[in-house]
Amino acid sequence: MLERSIDTIKGVGPKSAQQFREAGIETIEDLINFFPRIYEDFSRVQSIRDIRPGRVSVRGRFENISSKRVRRNMTVVEATLFDDTGKVQVVWFNQAYRVAQLKTEKEFLVSGEFNLQRNHYQIVSPSAEMTDGEGVNGGRIVPIYPATRGLKSVLVRKTLNELKPLILSLPETLPIDIVKEEKLMGHADALYQLHFPDDSVALERARERLGFEEILSLVLASLKNREDNDALASHMIEFSAADARAFVKNLPFDLTNAQRLAAWEAIQNLSADKPMNRMLQGDVGSGKTVVAGLVAYIAARNGYQSAIMAPTELLARQHAETLSRLLEPFEVSVALLTGSVKNKSRRELFTHIADGSVSVVIGTHALIEDPVKFHKLGFVVIDEQHRFGVAQRQKLLTKSDKMPHLLAMTATPIPRSLQLTVYGELDISILGEKPKNRLPITTEIISPNSRAQMYEKVEKEIQAGRQVYVVCPLIEASSSKYQESRGNTEDAEIKSVKAEYVRLQNSIFKHRRIGLLHGKLKPDEKQEVMERFASGDIDILVSTTVVEVGVDVPNATVIIIEAADTFGLAQLHQLRGRVGRSELQSYCYLVPSTSKAPSLRLRELEKSNDGFYLAERDLELRGPGEIYGRAQHGALDLKIANINDLRLLKKVRRVAPRFVEGYLDLKEYKKLADEVERYRRLTALN
Ligand code: ADP
Ligand code: MG
Repeated sequence: MLERSIDTIKGVGPKSAQQFREAGIETIEDLINFFPRIYEDFSRVQSIRDIRPGRVSVRGRFENISSKRVRRNMTVVEATLFDDTGKVQVVWFNQAYRVAQLKTEKEFLVSGEFNLQRNHYQIVSPSAEMTDGEGVNGGRIVPIYPATRGLKSVLVRKTLNELKPLILSLPETLPIDIVKEEKLMGHADALYQLHFPDDSVALERARERLGFEEILSLVLASLKNREDNDALASHMIEFSAADARAFVKNLPFDLTNAQRLAAWEAIQNLSADKPMNRMLQGDVGSGKTVVAGLVAYIAARNGYQSAIMAPTELLARQHAETLSRLLEPFEVSVALLTGSVKNKSRRELFTHIADGSVSVVIGTHALIEDPVKFHKLGFVVIDEQHRFGVAQRQKLLTKSDKMPHLLAMTATPIPRSLQLTVYGELDISILGEKPKNRLPITTEIISPNSRAQMYEKVEKEIQAGRQVYVVCPLIEASSSKYQESRGNTEDAEIKSVKAEYVRLQNSIFKHRRIGLLHGKLKPDEKQEVMERFASGDIDILVSTTVVEVGVDVPNATVIIIEAADTFGLAQLHQLRGRVGRSELQSYCYLVPSTSKAPSLRLRELEKSNDGFYLAERDLELRGPGEIYGRAQHGALDLKIANINDLRLLKKVRRVAPRFVEGYLDLKEYKKLADEVERYRRLTALN
């Protein structure tokens, strides 16, 4: 029944069927799972005589409907709404279609703001729904469906109305004990209430029930992933404390306690009979690379290869340099494999990886190409893990006969809500402290017309031997499309690296050595610029966000972020993390593209250096899909539940373990199992 095509529903002709299909609704099941976007609450309908300024709901008929153009691009529709008790003016802006909609003798439910507008009390741009013919009379909270490709809510409601008996007969999807214990609404009732709410209490209960199901699927996906991982055989890599000590002794600094603990936890996992599946989270500059290096060293000492994959060529190169310095004194051979390693040396490198003469291979996506074969791959590191899709991570892991141990590194903090859901079953190490003697970065929002004072401070830093990043969002100037798409007004100035490079070199910083870095340079050009910056031959590096991830030049103490308002919070924090990487005081200047009051995002960043706090805020401001990676994109933007609803998360976590501890068999709950399967593919780490 559920798989039947939409046009088998009574009243759905070819034209409506086409509208449904265009909105992606093909079957009856698709329609039932097409959830309302919002609800209009008509449950407190008033008599027109009684309304007071504020939000009102009234019902009545329209008369004196008129439409006029007031400006070139503005249409105003006005009408009088009347019931038995009185009359009220209603006005819509830029909704010309209302004229046709209202010209009937029918009664409407009207809901919106009743306010003083140009000296008249009017209801301004309300929703207006016809009351008859489609069950609105009974249910007074009316669902409004997403207007996907012009699909009308009225059509959706009318069609769903035909499915009422079917919806009510749908089977329960969760174990009945859980439904009882957690006092959940039944599945069929919940779907019914979602589409035809009796009242706000029933609607809330329905949403809780369906949200519970959603979160449970997520949590079970994570539990099942864990279960499968633990059932795999691994390379058991023993370690000797003496090896670890020797490596640590050779470092130019003392490890922080957090680094010690993280390395210890990982090394412990290596010697177990199941593959490690660990996330290493540490704010920018917390020193994740050296932890990976130590673990790779232990693997190498036991005759196992390690692969370290980074999202950019710059970063891979930098890791290769760092790790060569750390590992080659111990005669562990390190190699770099990126897109720009060409032909002959590339083939040679393949041979050395395949015969095991190279122990630690660092690279970009080039690592997952088919010709790359390992001899004995025991340990895999994915740096900036959320930059990679699941498929890419998996491809690297399949380059070993047994599942290699995995350390996924990220600077993006894992908010509590995700720790309880998708990442619930990962082992997590957190580098919660920065290396000692690090001072908090001073962050300041600089209005575009006070750049002069900022440059004075910057000049002082350069005089003291420090270096500076200037980050701009664009490569070329005047990308008007980009500005339009960001909704910027004309006075906004979105800087480009090329123009900014010329401007700084020709005016304020004539006497300084300035470098230019962006994604369109050839790999060896990028490398040359980075090397000159790293060695101190460049004072100011004007760059796009290619410096965003990972780049490590501890002598750089200033970062100026131009058009800072065009970046996301997490990205700004990442960019800021390019400075503050030594004992020196560092500065971050945020220059918005307009002199309007700075956005909430920028003010948050000015207030806080705490990546964890900022991630929580970012999650609230943007939702998880935006933040947690490409492959996961959207998957975590749940339909009903709010992933930040900790109360619900805890409820779910109470019951979820029953499905893996053998009390309950997921296979018996088909719909739930299908959902779990979907999430597993989207959220697996390995
Ligand atoms: P991230 O966690 O952002 O990847 P990195 O691994 O690039 O950080 O380390 C940042 C900088 O801190 C590097 O220059 C690194 O050599 C240095 N570093 C790492 N650990 C320590 C430590 N324990 N003490 C001092 N400096 C350290
Ligand atoms: Mg890093």
